[in-house]
Amino acid sequence: MARAAIRRRLTWRLATVAAVTEEARTARRLSLGIDDWEGHLPGQHVDVRLTAPDGYQAQRSYSIASAPESPTVDVVVQRVDEGEVSPYLVDELRVGDELELRGPIGGYFVWHADTDSPLQLVAGGSGVAPFLAVLDHHAAAGSTVPIRLLYSARTLGDVIARARLDEHVHRGVPVTIALTREQPPGWAGLRGRMTPETVREHTWPVDQRPRILVCGPTTFVEAVADSLVEAGHPTAAIKIERFG
Ligand SMILES: Cc1cc2nc3c(=O)[nH]c(=O)nc-3n(C[C@H](O)[C@H](O)[C@H](O)COP(=O)(O)OP(=O)(O)OC[C@H]3O[C@@H](n4cnc5c(N)ncnc54)[C@H](O)[C@@H]3O)c2cc1C
Repeated sequence: MARAAIRRRLTWRLATVAAVTEEARTARRLSLGIDDWEGHLPGQHVDVRLTAPDGYQAQRSYSIASAPESPTVDVVVQRVDEGEVSPYLVDELRVGDELELRGPIGGYFVWHADTDSPLQLVAGGSGVAPFLAVLDHHAAAGSTVPIRLLYSARTLGDVIARARLDEHVHRGVPVTIALTREQPPGWAGLRGRMTPETVREHTWPVDQRPRILVCGPTTFVEAVADSLVEAGHPTAAIKIERFG
């Protein structure tokens, strides 16, 4: 990569909030306008930096939730109660506000649309954010690569981007949702935490040699990765992103 492009990615720059969209009970999509955005790959993230009036700074990473084809660079932030940064991003930011941001960052946890292997996505909580970019890019690029999502959330109200996920279901993408804490009457999806059996039953089988991306809180990601290895998937086929 050219030195200027690398410098640009690592330099803080201003992004303007172009839209704020409710994506779940505790999650908002921030659509950001960024001058001269050089594009990104689904799976990459940005760093966001906030500065208090007294100069105190806090910095956090957020996956890019929009496809490269999108006119805005979107992040989906879930409020972590008692958190330092996420409550501000979810509750306080308004259209027209500015944020400091750098990126796109990361070259490992990404999906290239020209890959032939089936793609399995496994998300826990806000870990679905990078997969919204992957799914939208899969649709926009007209990819014929088989793709499916297994997604664990606490309650139906915590499922992020439900309407968009439904659109992917309607174009033929299998999306399986597990609700861990509470299920509405008549819930047809999965119940409870992911077990090795759930993971095995609701992901592409080993003989289809899928590539697998797993994203979410550390304990979730590690449990799912162990289940995938136990099911026989080679470790080299599994890429993980921990949200900590
Ligand atoms: C590469 C990367 C991409 C990320 N992408 C996203 C994203 O797309 N959307 C998103 O909402 N978050 C994402 N995160 C997590 C994000 O960076 C912050 O950690 C999160 O927003 C909490 O920040 P905070 O300042 O509100 O909480 P903090 O003040 O940092 O933490 C407060 C408390 O909450 C705990 N905590 C921190 N993060 C979480 C969490 N995710 N779940 C449960 N408990 C937590 C901490 O251990 C601490 O006890 C990503 C993290 C990484 C490393």
